[in-house]
Amino acid sequence: MKNLAVSILFLVFCIAFTQAQTTHGHSFGRKIEFPNVPGYQTLKCDFHIHTVFSDGAVWPTIRVEEALKDGLDAIAITDHLEYQPHQQDIPHPDRNRAYEIAKSFAENNDLLIIPGVEITRDMPPGHANAIFIQDANKILVDDARMAFEEANRQGAYVFWNHPNWISQRKDGIATLTDMHKQLIADSLLHGIEVVNELTFSDEAMRLALENNLGVIGTSDIHGLVDWQFDLAEGGHRPITLVFAKEKTEASIKEALFAGRTVAWYKDMLIGKEEHLVPLITSCLEIGKIKYVGDSNLAEVEIKNNSDADFIINSVSAYNFHGSSDVFTLEAHSTTKLEIKTMVRLKEFSMNFQVLNAVMNARIHPYIKIEMRQ
Ligand SMILES: [Zn+2]
Ligand SMILES: [Zn+2]
Repeated sequence: MKNLAVSILFLVFCIAFTQAQTTHGHSFGRKIEFPNVPGYQTLKCDFHIHTVFSDGAVWPTIRVEEALKDGLDAIAITDHLEYQPHQQDIPHPDRNRAYEIAKSFAENNDLLIIPGVEITRDMPPGHANAIFIQDANKILVDDARMAFEEANRQGAYVFWNHPNWISQRKDGIATLTDMHKQLIADSLLHGIEVVNELTFSDEAMRLALENNLGVIGTSDIHGLVDWQFDLAEGGHRPITLVFAKEKTEASIKEALFAGRTVAWYKDMLIGKEEHLVPLITSCLEIGKIKYVGDSNLAEVEIKNNSDADFIINSVSAYNFHGSSDVFTLEAHSTTKLEIKTMVRLKEFSMNFQVLNAVMNARIHPYIKIEMRQ
């Protein structure tokens, strides 16, 4: 009985401790949240996921449950076509099975399951994901280029996986080979992972811009999302935000081919300027200018309705009363700025550089905030 009392006390302590901890992390919960942008829905997608049908550790249904917990809109299960380490236990003659199992399990949810595979080759071309495919088995061919051709014949969106992977690229510098250049020239390769699992590649971002490739970020999860990305400590899985006209497979595909994406990785947003800036400004709700007493000190509240903490470097004419030029607009929080405008203004604008957003290698975008009384 005494032991029971001690156990209960310990349990209560654990719960209290956990709750206290979460207030430091993402206390707003596990579901990933970003608002829509003008003209488009912001869909949260993970296009690179493994199961026991290649070298992953879980059954496809677990992937669906994880995605639902993360509040995702779409996933693609992309098991290695050519690499089958569990083959003795799971012979896997039909490479469409992981997709079919996930698809039927997700039937009564509004999570979209997109058919996909990972074409798994030595470098070049290395690994590539083909998503929106018709039949995985037909992509399992001897010649690497023919695999890309078959995926494209099926209407697939194809992106280069982890071009910075040190097993295939010793220096970790994503670099196009002649084969990649030819695949791009022939419109057989459409996107590139700038983010894969636990890595971010400045060089891949530059390649995306120079070659008009889509910017993709994925979890490439093999084990459990919870463990790999430290969700209990406020981490999140890397995903691609897709700006789609509606939440359908066709619409996601259209958006990918049009290149409307931003990657979300370790509290950082990575994408082309034209997609990144509208996303960040859509996350922020700007309050009205209020002057304090009879002073010339303006107060403006900024509410951040997204999962991203925005680290701001202010490059405006005015200084702040309560902070330096660098401060953070915390996720799902309201920050009050005290701005020394020197005279009372009915309206003014401020320019902020967002340091944890990346629009090219080492280049961070600027946003303009309009403030009004
Ligand atoms: Zn791979
Ligand atoms: Zn993979």
